[in-house]
Amino acid sequence: MRIGHGYDVHAFCEGDHIMLCGVRVPHSKGFKAHSDGDVALHALTDAILGACALGDIGRHFPDTDDAYKGIDSRVLLRRVVDLISEKGYRINNVDITIVAEKPKLATLVDSMCEMVAGDLSIARDRVNVKATTSEKLGFVGQEQGIAAQSVVTVVEI
Ligand code: MG
Repeated sequence: MRIGHGYDVHAFCEGDHIMLCGVRVPHSKGFKAHSDGDVALHALTDAILGACALGDIGRHFPDTDDAYKGIDSRVLLRRVVDLISEKGYRINNVDITIVAEKPKLATLVDSMCEMVAGDLSIARDRVNVKATTSEKLGFVGQEQGIAAQSVVTVVEI
């Protein structure tokens, strides 16, 4: 059994929706990012890479590479799942925490769990997504952006 942790932040810019765990969430702002800015999937992808000692998302998919401009973060996640499977690992369970003052996400976490479980090809009861606020404190509390953390366990096949 191995464990990995991931953390990511994305700032808001003008827009009308954000992507979180592959789910399109209507919002009065968008994410400033090279990819679709799915901060939760970036934290998750980093946690998986971390568990397998395979570096980080920026090393595998550099934001200087036009190939990843505007890319769906689910594509990157699935590539990492394929990579760790080639290295002899499978994902045991994942936990994701999204820290956002707005929008409210409680009603969306179930669809987020289903989306992630599908992309990881694991059972729904091995995936947990939580949403919390920052009590109006700091950059999240001031609604300048969203942060996400993830912890993942993998097992050697
Ligand atoms: Mg990111």
